[in-house]
Amino acid sequence: MSALRKPRSRRTGAASHGEDAGDGRRGRGRGRNRGRNRGRGRGRRRGRGQGQGGGGRSGGGDGGLPELGPLPDGVAWESCVGMVDIGANLAHKSMRGRVEEFVARSGSNGVGAIIITGTSVKDSETAAAMAVEAEGREAGVALVSTAGVHPHDAKRWDAATAARIEALLADDHVVAVGECGLDYNRMFSTKDEQVTAFRAQLEIAARVAKPLFLHERDAWEPFVEILAEYWPSLPAGGVVHCFTSPPEALAAYLELGAYIGITGWVCDERRGGPLRDLVASIPLDRILIETDAPFLKPRGVAAIPSRGRNEPAYLPYVAVAVAECMGVTAEELVAASTANAVRLFGEAVAPR
Ligand SMILES: [Zn+2]
Repeated sequence: MSALRKPRSRRTGAASHGEDAGDGRRGRGRGRNRGRNRGRGRGRRRGRGQGQGGGGRSGGGDGGLPELGPLPDGVAWESCVGMVDIGANLAHKSMRGRVEEFVARSGSNGVGAIIITGTSVKDSETAAAMAVEAEGREAGVALVSTAGVHPHDAKRWDAATAARIEALLADDHVVAVGECGLDYNRMFSTKDEQVTAFRAQLEIAARVAKPLFLHERDAWEPFVEILAEYWPSLPAGGVVHCFTSPPEALAAYLELGAYIGITGWVCDERRGGPLRDLVASIPLDRILIETDAPFLKPRGVAAIPSRGRNEPAYLPYVAVAVAECMGVTAEELVAASTANAVRLFGEAVAPR
């Protein structure tokens, strides 16, 4: 879950990607990139034609997703096949009951696996149940989950909470501990409550030997101090998700050995400017991508099937923006971020 407001949408000049919605997301090989191959942009790719990339897995039954139009810089949708959305809040109350729909659409857009974020005991249990029920790879998309308590909910942390979270982590469908960490921006729980819940979840991660799904907002210094204390005892490492912090924080996380999760915040060329500059300095073997749906809809998505909210189907927008910042192609970014996700979270998120 993000503490950020979503990037504000603008429709100015070359930045207004994807707004001509009539170009045919499903018309693979039929001019999806028409009019957007502007001959520049480091992540630019032309379509590779039919039959490459598992398009159309959900056929025409896409749950009513409006045409999305071309990706920024004319990147082909096929370039993004096999992505792992490392953070989607499908257990969030606004998304419940529509999981099949979200998963089918994400599969059509190249998402190969979704890690459903757990932010409380209740949401972690819901997320785990969704992952278990989806066994068999509904729409070709693997679903797994995390189990943990967000810093906003840290005030509810107690021994019973710890026991329930640790019990969930015994299941193979639950691949990470979190989301947990520190959020000194909103302060829905006190600093003491947040530190207590954070430390307890770091201890759980050490015991169960699963990676951490970490949240940090306006708290990077105490966060990294605590994390560094536990890091040697954490065999599976972790990812700092929805990274938006200063350069010093990025350097500290990379020095520790953490992965960095980037959301649609990077798609906003104005408000995401400092982040875009920083993303360029993230090594390709540490980058992960995520939607943080239903929050942070990437700027440039014109279609609003979820009443303006974000969903995993929009992950290609994040992939393309990150690739552009890093100076690699979309294919290279997707291949690297998926390999990183498999290395961190295991074979459960590997493309099939
Ligand atoms: Zn978060």
